[in-house]
Amino acid sequence: MTTQTATQKNPSFVLQAPNKVVYEDRPVPELPSQYDVIVKPRWTGICGSDVHYWVEGRIGPFVVESPMVLGHESAGIVHAVGDKVTSLKVGDRVAMEPGVPCRRCVRCKEGKYNLCPDMAFAATPPFDGTLARYYSLPEDYCYKLPEGMSMEEGALIEPTAVAVHITRQAAIKPGDSVVVFGAGPVGLLCCAVAKAYGATKVVTVDINEERLQFALKYAANASFKSARVSAEENAKNMIKECGLGPGADVIIDASGAEPCIQTAIHALRMGGTYVQGGMGKPDITFPIMAMCTKELNVKGSFRYGAGDYQTAVDLVATGRVAVKQLVTGKVKFDDAESAFRDVKQGKGIKILIEGPEE
Ligand SMILES: [Zn+2]
Ligand SMILES: [Zn+2]
Repeated sequence: MTTQTATQKNPSFVLQAPNKVVYEDRPVPELPSQYDVIVKPRWTGICGSDVHYWVEGRIGPFVVESPMVLGHESAGIVHAVGDKVTSLKVGDRVAMEPGVPCRRCVRCKEGKYNLCPDMAFAATPPFDGTLARYYSLPEDYCYKLPEGMSMEEGALIEPTAVAVHITRQAAIKPGDSVVVFGAGPVGLLCCAVAKAYGATKVVTVDINEERLQFALKYAANASFKSARVSAEENAKNMIKECGLGPGADVIIDASGAEPCIQTAIHALRMGGTYVQGGMGKPDITFPIMAMCTKELNVKGSFRYGAGDYQTAVDLVATGRVAVKQLVTGKVKFDDAESAFRDVKQGKGIKILIEGPEE
């Protein structure tokens, strides 16, 4: 059976308007410069942000105003290389870092390129994503997959890099107690990276019992189910149940939920560190007095910066962070929309899209 996209030259999964996706035959990209490569994505993970654009057509200030190819968590095979490319050749298997900064601004020059105001990020309007047969990007935004690492694992490098960046912001040290709110893909990966960095206690927090059980099997060594009580009470109960002594050294929020953020601030020890990884409501009520009097270190985290992608590849390659068991579903390119439906309904943990077919 031939699929609907098999005859297209560059089949692309395009969001035209909220809840309206189509397969378009886009022009085959040419190498934008001698330093670029063209990759054929083989596996692409779907994340909350993709689904958000699909449903709402926007995330905060980023609004889909013209049709946009979706997808940004991909691994693929190098199809063509520019004349000045030295580290890659046709046929190489690579994880694709999906955001390319300007390289010229102050933020780029100081090494925080994820904060570049001119970032071109896949599937963030107006930039097209990776769910197409061809995708071009600079040589140095491709990371060769070591032998033994599958392409599916390669697609999981993107969320792993998000977790690596969050844990870097948190400056986790051996012996730390770390609490992670939210047991979705990024929360789970934060638990795994924290453990790899030597955290002694890794507590997973969620309201979904199934997810907590998964997190305990996966990387956490304690769990806490949030209850509908005040944030202070929740924090007190968590500290007691999970043996967090004077409070946690580090708390990461990968949920974006207001009650979680409030509980986290109350559950930190004096001088502890808080990192916001999850995105939820843009404005919330925040326990700023506790933050002040405990002299907390409160930080944001956005995507990933210099070194994070390579660290993610290394953590997975050496087995210190396992990603295979996060994959709970696989669909073909022609069924991409069903993957979006499943993620929207909170089914499974990570769903991968294969293809498009040759
Ligand atoms: Zn993502
Ligand atoms: Zn820049």
